[in-house]
Amino acid sequence: MPNPLNTLAYRFLNASLQSDSAAQEIPSSLSRRGFLLAAAALSSCSAAAPLKPQAAAPVKTTSNSNYRTPAIQGPVPRNPDMALNSDFPNSAGVSFSRVLVSGNFIAMTFDDGPHPQNTPRLLDMLRARNIKATFFVIGRSVDLYPQIVRRTVAEGHEIGNHTHTHRLLSKLSDSEVRLELARCRDSVARAAGVQMRTMRPPYGGLLQRQREFVHAEFGYPTILWSVDPLDWKRPGPGVVTSRILSGTTAGGIVLAHDLHAQTVDAMPATLDGLLHRGFKFVTVSQLLAMKTDTATAQAAVAPANH
Ligand SMILES: [Zn+2]
Repeated sequence: MPNPLNTLAYRFLNASLQSDSAAQEIPSSLSRRGFLLAAAALSSCSAAAPLKPQAAAPVKTTSNSNYRTPAIQGPVPRNPDMALNSDFPNSAGVSFSRVLVSGNFIAMTFDDGPHPQNTPRLLDMLRARNIKATFFVIGRSVDLYPQIVRRTVAEGHEIGNHTHTHRLLSKLSDSEVRLELARCRDSVARAAGVQMRTMRPPYGGLLQRQREFVHAEFGYPTILWSVDPLDWKRPGPGVVTSRILSGTTAGGIVLAHDLHAQTVDAMPATLDGLLHRGFKFVTVSQLLAMKTDTATAQAAVAPANH
């Protein structure tokens, strides 16, 4: 930095960072205002980068749409290895917003994927932490990105039916509901060779009568949720994280959307926070398979009716 003004400004900034006596070092030939202007000019100079205060962690914004979550530095907490049964009986129940279990088990669920960028990014985060989640996929998107569904299954996650075109099922006829579920079922079978065991209605909208017919015909219990961070409103990753951390209890089913980049941005802190609180992640079917008898009684008196 040969420019003498910059050199002075550098000295001034350095001194002002260290003590309040910096003003004593200002030569009388230059006013304080001159120094502040010089300092301002300097701060936009790349050579002055070390002088700038530590920038806040970057987040994805409209002006920074290429932002990607940085690679994980150092060890992250890991979900324990668990050889869990995922076969639950048909008699387990018709619909659930949570499951009574003995133990700190929770199910993390992601709706509306697969998404070509956000879902693989999320899968990386889950894999680093040995977490298995449940993805309620839209059949139409499965047809577009079958390889992502294959990877999701290969990495031990569960796929659930979220219909083919994401319509509000409570407004549809039985035959339309049947078609929405059957088309998604067939898309997932084509893409990844698996039969789904659970479904989640778009917007949580499914009448009790419809839940019973879906359960009888498809064998799907309706899976709602106990924690809703309203992440689809894009409140910012920090808000998504704090809502999930404050709302999650044992047996809980957490709703989130891998469709949204902000939700995925929130996941490292969310997942690590839940692991630090002692929660163990399982898939929805695993959670249903560990349901206790007490839960049967509770579900009978308090059906979820969203
Ligand atoms: Zn949805």
